[in-house]
Amino acid sequence: MGGSEQKYVNEAFDSNWIAPLGPNVNAFEQSIKNRLGDDVHVAALSAGTAAIHLGLELLGVSNGDDVICQSFTFSASANPITYLGACPVFVDSELDTWNMSPVLLRQAIEDGIAKGRKPKAIIVVHLYGMPYKISEIGAISDEFEIPIIEDSAEALGSTYKEIPCGTFGDIGILSFNGNKIITTSGGGALVSKNKELVERAVFLATQARDDAPHYQHSNIGYNYRMSNVLAGIGRGQMEVLGDRVNARRANHQYYKDTLEGFSEIEFLKEPKGYFSNRWLSCILTPSFEIREKLRMSLLEENIESRPLWKPLHLQPIFSTAQHFVDGTSESLFERGLCLPSGSNLTQDDLDRVVTTIKTVLS
Ligand SMILES: *Cc1c(COP(=O)(O)O)cnc(C)c1O
Repeated sequence: MGGSEQKYVNEAFDSNWIAPLGPNVNAFEQSIKNRLGDDVHVAALSAGTAAIHLGLELLGVSNGDDVICQSFTFSASANPITYLGACPVFVDSELDTWNMSPVLLRQAIEDGIAKGRKPKAIIVVHLYGMPYKISEIGAISDEFEIPIIEDSAEALGSTYKEIPCGTFGDIGILSFNGNKIITTSGGGALVSKNKELVERAVFLATQARDDAPHYQHSNIGYNYRMSNVLAGIGRGQMEVLGDRVNARRANHQYYKDTLEGFSEIEFLKEPKGYFSNRWLSCILTPSFEIREKLRMSLLEENIESRPLWKPLHLQPIFSTAQHFVDGTSESLFERGLCLPSGSNLTQDDLDRVVTTIKTVLS
């Protein structure tokens, strides 16, 4: 926590606003708007996953539709496709950003169109905080008139050409889960420059109640709004987002400075114009064996590290899904490792990680 979270939570208690609406929700949404831009509208929700679910529904995705999704991501990016009875079509990554390959995206779309199944939406992710190829993916979305859901769950604070991540898609989603760069313990947001879409999201997120004195429903609704108590935490967290980004980037820089001399270790560079919040600091090793040797040696020192996300086209739950892949994300998964990346790591913590890695490699 940063400092003022407790104050805002106390305000919720003192004013008895213990509900999925109230002054903290409004102020939290405003603080996100202040960060993302005046032309952006924000709906605070119970989770990032809920935001993706509502986003797909708002874009008209329904039973039997195809939805393209980046394969190299956390399962929550794709799970909501199946909530709607739609079918995920997974697209592999490229090596400059580790995110969706524009070449394979085009293939997937053209293949769908040739089969009379034009995809309804594209879910693309700024994985580990690194922005995806915004202009290339955006151009394909425009060309084929297929809207983008921009999964910015890991990328609050990241920018491309100084424009904040979360604002590039037709709909952007944020997450404030406990493991993200800032947190409300659990929470998310749907953002868009389209005001009607965001109003519709709030309507659906609050049980889709029609305008009537009694409870009248013409739509199936959800209970997806953020609680005013948790939004109090979010208000405090937004005040320290800049510090968190600096801390995460400093972790990454330290790993890079101390380990770059080892030819076995590669870091993902920021392409020109890209600014990553470096949510997690990741390295690439030459092989699965070396990756595992590092991971196990760290574990022996009681240091947790983790393989990169397992691509969704390789997950048992999605084994029958269509996929357009070239082995990139599979290789990243086999060779990559997320190092300890918390915003509260001390210099001693970082030194222990680096010393352990150096011992293995030398
Ligand atoms: C965390 C995460 C989500 C889901 O967010 P929740 O708030 O945990 O539901 C979706 N996509 C990605 C890439 C994530 O990392």
